[in-house]
Amino acid sequence: MPTTQTIVAIGDHQPEMAEREAFPPQRFKVYTAKQLDKIPQLQRLCEEQRFEMKVVASVLPFRVNEHVIDELIDWDAVPDDPIFQLTFPQREMLAPEYFERVAQALRDELPREDFNAIVADIRAELNPHPAGQLEHNIPHVNGEPIDGLQHKYRETVLFFPSSGQVCHTYCTFCFRWAQFVGDKDLQIAAKESGQLQDYLREHREVTDVLVTGGDPMVMKTRNLRAYLEPLLGEEFDHIRTIRIGTKALTFWPQRFVSDADAQDLLDLFREIQAAGKHLALMAHYNHWRELEPAIAREAVRRIRDTGAQIRAQGPLLAHINDDPAVWARLWQTQVELGIVPYYMFVERDTGARRYFEVPLVRAWEIYREAMQQVSGIARTARGPSMSAHPGKVEIQGVTEVRGEKVLALRMIQGRDPNWVQRPFFARYDEEATWLNHLEPALGEEQFFFEARQAG
Ligand SMILES: *Cc1c(COP(=O)(O)O)cnc(C)c1O
Ligand code: SF4
Repeated sequence: MPTTQTIVAIGDHQPEMAEREAFPPQRFKVYTAKQLDKIPQLQRLCEEQRFEMKVVASVLPFRVNEHVIDELIDWDAVPDDPIFQLTFPQREMLAPEYFERVAQALRDELPREDFNAIVADIRAELNPHPAGQLEHNIPHVNGEPIDGLQHKYRETVLFFPSSGQVCHTYCTFCFRWAQFVGDKDLQIAAKESGQLQDYLREHREVTDVLVTGGDPMVMKTRNLRAYLEPLLGEEFDHIRTIRIGTKALTFWPQRFVSDADAQDLLDLFREIQAAGKHLALMAHYNHWRELEPAIAREAVRRIRDTGAQIRAQGPLLAHINDDPAVWARLWQTQVELGIVPYYMFVERDTGARRYFEVPLVRAWEIYREAMQQVSGIARTARGPSMSAHPGKVEIQGVTEVRGEKVLALRMIQGRDPNWVQRPFFARYDEEATWLNHLEPALGEEQFFFEARQAG
């Protein structure tokens, strides 16, 4: 039946053609603080607003790509648009006195050295390395510290490949901002994967390697392969899960669809799965709008086709997603696309925190109200969780114990494995936005993790 055959042949071929037509290769174009004036859409803002952006971008890193500008931001809704807030500097991100100092320095056109000194001062005031990131968690091999690794929790090692320490676009809330402002001495980055392998060989207790940045997905596939392929060998049998932290699924989904090495990347994902390991993409999402573009959904579909899992995490942020309906829709959309909601984080105590922070009590209310709007399938996100020095602390809720109003907390991940899943209580505090604002409840002198350890 020649007619049928012809139809079948055409039918088989059509989706492929359609895909190629729908997602042609795109050029990656990026703007930084110096090119703010070149962004066409910003011309609709007034002079004063653009100056304010320049002031803030002098202190906090700024970088945005054309895909985010053209596809994710609704320019008619600016400045309230959540993706605009997520990616563009806003005046209130800096305390008024810092803002004024930088603004004056710009107006006075201070010599570059003097200007940089002012900026450096202010940056140092913004707690650039929260939770003791520089002093703690840095592992050693043969007595030598390894810069590009962090080992805080027994089973999981964080790896920061040196070529993955930028991002397709910078989030205005990013707690890794200090890594992006050119402070090379402080940059937590690996020279090579050899050190990672040396360390993992000696540490059989590690089951998870989390490759992070910045965004490791800024790397070409051949670079990423150089880091990951060696871990598939027999000597690394103890490594069961490889996670890759990334925002590329929304900031540059082309990475998985139409970039020249997208297919090679998906092949690498398949190889990791075929070697018997679990591969999880830890995708940052802050708003359901990020999952709307067809190419973002196509990226999800292609990654899932490789057998890799996508898990979603992101912080709760004022001006962007401090609304239960936004989280409910985000989680529901993720579930429909086959993504597992994993963490809701509390905004960290660094950078533009003053602009984004939400009180812990309010964070818990938002989490709870969002949970109430979805079914159990979408209730897999843990949180709201603070990544603090002792570990990840989850706010379980507000309750009363022996007549005292308290915040019930739980350590979901701890520096000491004995701490994991321990519940504890803090005095009720409506304003507290971080662990160090909380006081032990029920007459206790200190939290259990503050107690001096025996021996
Ligand atoms: C969250 C986190 C991890 C991973 O913890 P899981 O609970 O296993 O997801 C690892 N290292 C650091 C420093 C973290 O903050
Ligand atoms: S995507 Fe992640 S690494 Fe990149 S700027 Fe946002 S929070 Fe930072």
